[in-house]
Parts: sequence; structure tokens; C-alpha cells
Amino acid sequence: MNKTIINDLDVKSKKILMRVDFNVPINDGVVGDDNRIVAALPSIKYVIENGGKAVLFSHLGRIKSEDDKEGLSLRPVAEKLADLLGKPVTFVPVTEGSQLEKAINDMEDGQVLLVQNTRYEDVVNGEEVKRESKNDKALGEYWASLGDAFVNDAFGTAHRSHASNVGIATAMEANNKPVAAGYLMEKEIEFLGNAVDNPEKPFVAILGGAKVSDKIGVIDHLLGKADKIIIGGGMTYTFYAAQGINIGNSLVEEDKIDVAKEILEKGKDQIILPVDSVVAEKFSNDVEEKTVEGAIPDGYMALDIGPKSVETFEDVLKDAKTVVWNGPMGVFEMPKFAKGTLAIGKFLGDLDAITIVGGGDSTAAVKELGVSDKLTHISTGGGASLEYLEGKELPGIASLSDK
Ligand code: ADP
Ligand code: MG
Repeated sequence: MNKTIINDLDVKSKKILMRVDFNVPINDGVVGDDNRIVAALPSIKYVIENGGKAVLFSHLGRIKSEDDKEGLSLRPVAEKLADLLGKPVTFVPVTEGSQLEKAINDMEDGQVLLVQNTRYEDVVNGEEVKRESKNDKALGEYWASLGDAFVNDAFGTAHRSHASNVGIATAMEANNKPVAAGYLMEKEIEFLGNAVDNPEKPFVAILGGAKVSDKIGVIDHLLGKADKIIIGGGMTYTFYAAQGINIGNSLVEEDKIDVAKEILEKGKDQIILPVDSVVAEKFSNDVEEKTVEGAIPDGYMALDIGPKSVETFEDVLKDAKTVVWNGPMGVFEMPKFAKGTLAIGKFLGDLDAITIVGGGDSTAAVKELGVSDKLTHISTGGGASLEYLEGKELPGIASLSDK
């Protein structure tokens, strides 16, 4: 990687500002799923075990008014983090001012401090000013002035230009202070980056999910990269419609039928569509389902790929050396329509290939269905991984120092 990474930093006795992703569910003041906190531990430990001071920043939820603040304090996260680290974590309940500055200056080597939710800066004196979310320059400069180096370990926000990622990074670099990727960020760039730009071939992409419109950018970019593109999920039926195949009441984006036609033309040697579907009369798990080949009968909607599609897809996937998967094959939230997604997930788990899953619902699907453990990499960033797969430059990555 041509970007500076955390291992390149000399952290001893330095104040290391670190952007982490602690945007975790909190219920009644208690952290629910702590996966994201656990995922940030390696970078935090690197700093403190090498005698540095770790000053952590994260956003939590969205703040639109003063009333939102209390429920979105990071205090419960500080408590959880202290448990996980087995050592105290200083929580500073504000995002700027003398209380924060003093707390940082009082830190000893090896200590950890968590700053209040960066989005508190989105509302100042009752007014929604979005200092954090609109990357207010002065705010980034202020935060940057509090430390000696910056580590960005929040891949999930890398597609956004906020003060706590791009703002701090830009100000740090302007002062010739290093900006490095944390371990999580490094892993994401390595896996997603290599998969897309330098894949071991054959490279097969599996694209599903609800809408063609969400995925046009990804399909377009990957058409130039992948040997085959498998399409499943709800967007299948816009492609069916583009070919004049009956789709019954299945999901369709009428205004994307032309785009689908163009994609089918451009990718005629690459794109593989489902040959059968599991259909039902209602969008519900409590209806009788059946499998049909090709066209969807009137009065029915297609909610999953069928077993012949699974076979077809497996035949394409069996020789692949790199697979990128975004978008479930069916309405996996309902057990009756989760079978296609489950089958593909299991098959990928046993495949001798680099297998990468990106996308919010896709990640949730492979975890819920219990097939995530055997995959090579599950991206932590939903929107960020999609933009990466579209070939966009992510501001959070672009703002890391070059090696
Ligand atoms: P990701 O968040 O991984 O990018 P998407 O948001 O594009 O994925 O798609 C996920 C959603 O697509 C899921 O909620 C799933 O229920 C829905 N979906 C998949 N197949 C179908 C289908 N045949 N009809 C309607 N919705 C579908
Ligand atoms: Mg989604």
C-alpha cells in the first residue's frame, strides 16, 4: 500500500488522535452489539502498548437538535471500551474547550481518552450548523492542534468528508504531521482495493439487493474489471423487464429499464441472470411459495432465486479465484426467501478463493445466516464499500499521507 499505516508511526509519548467507528447501538445507556469497538482494539492497543497516548474520536447517530445530544453521548462506549481493554478510559463529555485540552495534556503514556460524540458539533447553541458533517475547516484545524499525529481507522465513514476524518487529516498534513491508516482501514483498502484493481483471476462479482439504481455505478465499474457478473435479488426483474420477460408483481424500476438494456448489451458475455425464482402472492413469510422458471406469473412476485439459478451460479463460481459479493440474492429477512443467499454464502465459504462481502444488508445477511466465518473479508463499511466498488476515490482514504 502506498499510504502511511499505523505501523509506520513512532507513537512513544506522542498524542495520537484516532478516528474510530464507535457508531454502535445503545439501549438505555448500555452498548448492544460491540463488534465495532472490538474491531478498533488492535489500533488502540498498538498506540498504548508502544507508550503513546490514544485520543479517540467517533460519531454516534445523527444530531439535529440539542434534544438529541443526551441520548447520543459516547459515555456508555467509554465504559464498554474500558471493560474490553481492561484499563480505565477517560471520557471527556465535550468536543472542544479547556476541559478537553486539559484532559489531553494531563494524559500519561499508555492512556486512553475518548472525546464526546463528534456530531455534538452539528448543533451549536440550538442551531443545526453541521460543523462536523460539513467539514468546518476551523473545527478540523482545532482538533488537529490537539495531537502529534492522526490515525484514521474508520472505514465506514471514509466516503464522507467530515471534520473528524478529512478535516483533521488535512490540517495535520498542512503542518507536516503524519496521517496514517489504522489496521482496520488498512485491511479494507488491502482487500477491497486488491480485489477490484488487482484481482487474482478469474474474478467474479455477485450483485444483488433491491434496486438497480443503487448498483448501476458498481455494475458499470465492475464490467470493466470482472470476468463474470452474476446478478440476483430484486434487481433481476428490471433486467427481465428489459428483455421483455414477464415479471408479475416483482420489484421493478420502470425508469431503469433502458439502463438495464444498455448494461445487458455492454456485458453480454459477462452478465449471468437467474433462470428460476421463488415466488409468492404476497411480500410475506406466511404465504405459500413456489418455484418457477423464467417468467414470473401474473399475480406473483419473485422474492428469491431458485435452485437452478443456484446451480448455474455455482458453476460460474467454482473456478473463481476472487469473488466480490454485494447485495443479497433474495429477501433474506424472511426465512422462506433466504435460501438462495444462504446457498451462495455456503458455497463461497468452501471455495478456494478470496471472497469479499461489502454492503450493509449483505454483511448483515451473511452474519445472520451464519456463513460469514469462512469468507475472507467482510467489509465494515456499507456505503463506503459500495463507493469503493464504484471506483470512486474515498476522501477518508485520499487524505491519508502518502508513503
Ligand atoms: P446492500 O445494503 O448490501 O448494498 P441492498 O440494500 O442493495 O444491499 O439490498 C438489500 C435488500 O434487498 C434486502 O432488504 C432484501 O430484502 C432486498 N431484496 C433482495 N431480493 C429481493 C427481491 N427479490 N425483491 C424485493 N427485495 C429484495
Ligand atoms: Mg442496503
